[in-house]
Amino acid sequence: MTPQKNDQARGISQALAEQNLDVAIENARATFAVVATSIPEPLQEREAHLVNWYNRLKGNPITKLRALYDFMAQIYDSIHKFTPCKKGCISCCHYPVSIREVEIKFIERESGVLRAKNVRSTEDYHGLACPFLRNNSCSIYHARPFVCRRHIAITKTAHWCHPDRANSAKFPLVNFTEVDKVFNAILLESQSSKAWDIRQIFF
Ligand code: SF4
Repeated sequence: MTPQKNDQARGISQALAEQNLDVAIENARATFAVVATSIPEPLQEREAHLVNWYNRLKGNPITKLRALYDFMAQIYDSIHKFTPCKKGCISCCHYPVSIREVEIKFIERESGVLRAKNVRSTEDYHGLACPFLRNNSCSIYHARPFVCRRHIAITKTAHWCHPDRANSAKFPLVNFTEVDKVFNAILLESQSSKAWDIRQIFF
């Protein structure tokens, strides 16, 4: 068998094995244990001091949000080999997507898409497509909200990310506490405490 066929066969058997919930959780736990150590030291160091970095940042909250997103992209680049999150995987675009005022302004500024005149009343959005999902792709990828950037699955495959299966168990997810702290500081600074679902604001 050629190396390419070997990879294909391994991928298929991995996908089949992960249809078992216990296997998927075990895989995610194992990845969780190695993911943090795979981030280059300078990036880990920056993350550890991210609140100090934020305190020295100049500019308005939107500029600061952009700087935070740039940092998150660097982290993501260093761990993408551990995640099944890939272009064309749209499962989490069918989950509730919370969004705050500063993120709405960021989307408006970066994508040119303006919010609707009225805010839609809330409903259960689980399973409903995000309005920015077009042709199985995010149409505002560079401007997408914080939660879309923060949600990083670490199972081997995206099988359990499907909205019908996502609530079957609590899967370990990668999270970065200092990133969260800076995001919360930006919300505070921009007085963006109120949250909506993205589908209430853009439709
Ligand atoms: S903003 Fe983009 S990434 Fe986020 S849920 Fe919508 S389509 Fe998906």
